[in-house]
Amino acid sequence: MNWLSDPALAPIAQKVESGQRLNFEEGMQLFRTRDLNTLMRLANLRKTALHGDKVYFVHSMRLEFTNICYVGCTFCAFAAHKNEARAWDYTPEEVVAQVGRRYLPGITELHMSSGHHPNHKWEYYPAMVRALRESYPDLQVKAFTAAEIEHLSRISKKPTLDVLRELQAAGLSAMPGGGAEIFADRVRKQVAKNKVKAEKWLQIHSEAHSLGMRTNATMLYGHIETLEERLDHMHRLRELQDDSMARHGGGFHAFIPLAFQPLGNTLAQNLGKTEYTTGLDDLRNLAVARIYLDNFPHIKGYWVMIGSELTQVSLDWGVSDIDGTIQEEHIAHAAGATSPMKLSEQGMIRMIQHAGRLPVLRDAYYNELETFPAQHEAAD
Ligand code: SF4
Repeated sequence: MNWLSDPALAPIAQKVESGQRLNFEEGMQLFRTRDLNTLMRLANLRKTALHGDKVYFVHSMRLEFTNICYVGCTFCAFAAHKNEARAWDYTPEEVVAQVGRRYLPGITELHMSSGHHPNHKWEYYPAMVRALRESYPDLQVKAFTAAEIEHLSRISKKPTLDVLRELQAAGLSAMPGGGAEIFADRVRKQVAKNKVKAEKWLQIHSEAHSLGMRTNATMLYGHIETLEERLDHMHRLRELQDDSMARHGGGFHAFIPLAFQPLGNTLAQNLGKTEYTTGLDDLRNLAVARIYLDNFPHIKGYWVMIGSELTQVSLDWGVSDIDGTIQEEHIAHAAGATSPMKLSEQGMIRMIQHAGRLPVLRDAYYNELETFPAQHEAAD
């Protein structure tokens, strides 16, 4: 049976089926088509060619060591002024104590991204990483977005490459993908005008890749960006990934679309926006990413932003990774995320199994730690 209902997708389907790369206009066709069934099937085809039925997750912990920040991104509801009652700021010793408070056996990844604190000296950051690795030598520390690395470069007066080198020597394992937002200047000026520029964000990730560090890449969507600007964002990431793979043998692990959350931030207030992204927009975005970003190992369905139910559905739309158990998340929840603060390992396994997929517990480097059997919902 031929499922294709949009004739414009016929040449694209042929390309995807034979493993060829799509050009920009073809990527836009995927964003515009109403033939969602074919879009889903093509994304699933690409995902299955890479990973079969496997879906990855990590036993992880999130920690934000401070919410004090001077940058003023308009979409952010997390940042606080240091005099506000809701502000917090941990010393390296308190960071270790906070990890101890939430630590559970089996956690392998600590994910930290935080505000750009106006007063901390450079020495605070490697000291924190070192203290963590001394107390928890088996914990892989994935920390500091490219925006934070640029901030550290400014306060230390060191080139970003040296900042990365010194943090790596202190025990930093990998970098998260935050701070990317949307690369297009038009949007960036309105949502993150004081933050790292797009070119610098890409340069910092390229430098991390040159040190053998693996990183992720995000995209904040569902606010003022156009579909062309979403695809332009993906296109720039695809180009950098080509370069990193050719020169350094690898680069990004995963692309993570982040759905805009509409509460408590000035961008939503200025736009009069109260709605969350729709389920089909979330799924379409993930599917286009899976097809267009043919050199990215994983597309991540981030359950914190889109909820665990839609994340489960996204496993048919090109998603091969559903992030982790997290323990406590504050950034998206400050802006209105309605998902729980954490998921149990058992809950993640069940979510994947009931989608008929194979749950694979991974670490921050995507080493496979344990595989669980698939189990269809109907078999329960
Ligand atoms: S998104 Fe990050 S850099 Fe921007 S204001 Fe919020 S905490 Fe600061």
